Amino acid sequence: KVVCVTGASGYIASWLVKLLLLRGYSVNATVRDVNDSKKVDHLLKFDGAKERLKLFKADLLEEGCFDLAVEGCEGVFHTASPSFLDANDPQTELIDPAVKGTLNLLKSCAKLPSLKRVVLTSSMAAVLSNGQPRSPEVIVDETWFSKPDFCREVKLWYALSKTLAEEVAWKFVKENNIDMVVIHPLYVLGPLLQPSLNDSSATVLRLLTGAQTSPNVAAGWINVKDVANAHIQAFEISSASGRYCLVETVTHFSDFVKISHELCPTLPLPEKFVMDEPLTPKFQVSKEKAKTLVIEFIPLQVSIKEIVESLKEKKFLNF
Ligand code: NDP
Repeated sequence: KVVCVTGASGYIASWLVKLLLLRGYSVNATVRDVNDSKKVDHLLKFDGAKERLKLFKADLLEEGCFDLAVEGCEGVFHTASPSFLDANDPQTELIDPAVKGTLNLLKSCAKLPSLKRVVLTSSMAAVLSNGQPRSPEVIVDETWFSKPDFCREVKLWYALSKTLAEEVAWKFVKENNIDMVVIHPLYVLGPLLQPSLNDSSATVLRLLTGAQTSPNVAAGWINVKDVANAHIQAFEISSASGRYCLVETVTHFSDFVKISHELCPTLPLPEKFVMDEPLTPKFQVSKEKAKTLVIEFIPLQVSIKEIVESLKEKKFLNF
């Protein structure tokens, strides 16, 4: 079976490509620059890559550029999207590539007789950003939707990009009779396969080193292997449908650092890592629907150990 993964060099997509190859799939992987060794070398070393991995050049904003990569595919995993929170020009840096890129990819999929399902990587940012009150009793689930007006009002530009991209995707697939499932992870952590940091592992590194104090927000965490696996399960389980929230645990950033220090006592605890007061109350995220994808969630403690090891191995952490 042939499948396509967009943005294949990314943190989540690298795991997705690795696991797809292990499950015997042939993978058409899109990257922005097929000659950039920092982006592709790790992919080419995966088991099965020599026989079953093909690289394709594609930029989200280039119309028609996904046509070749999706040709003959039964499944298309769309992970490529600008994944960072701070932008000088949100429209150009975040919203256009997320929204136009998603439409661009779906237009290529609409022409595909072989296609069974598209799995879109969205985010809890497209679920949670609606201004609804939070408390430890509140259980967020797949019926929650972020509100574009709220995102604009409080300048949550990344959340806006993911919310609008999901909105246009649902509209397009309904009009064009495409089967789509959407995955919504929160902060992703665990081992890095790619040599560089992505935004969520950079956040973990900043928290662990105290390089920059962060607002003490309540954040949800999920292991990258669970996220990759959920994408594959969402493709393979024919009854899968709609949206899936993926959060193993919600902690405040301050508790995240304390847990990390307890687990890895040799990790020097930074003096100041978060601003003093919790800025957002904790909440829960329902695992009920995610469980139907038959995923055993990796506990946060294990994910922390894995990312600390990985950051050490790649020399981002020295202790
Ligand atoms: P990465 O930054 O590692 O991956 C993002 C990928 O998107 C990269 O491969 C990047 O390519 C590609 N990309 C960005 N802009 C373009 C463009 N204009 N044209 C083509 N490709 C582009 O981050 P993640 O792996 O974390 O993110 C993957 C997906 O998961 C994103 O959709 C993100 O929104 C979502 N997500 C991530 C979470 C997290 O905590 N990590 C949480 C929730 C959702 P290049 O390498 O060339 O820059």
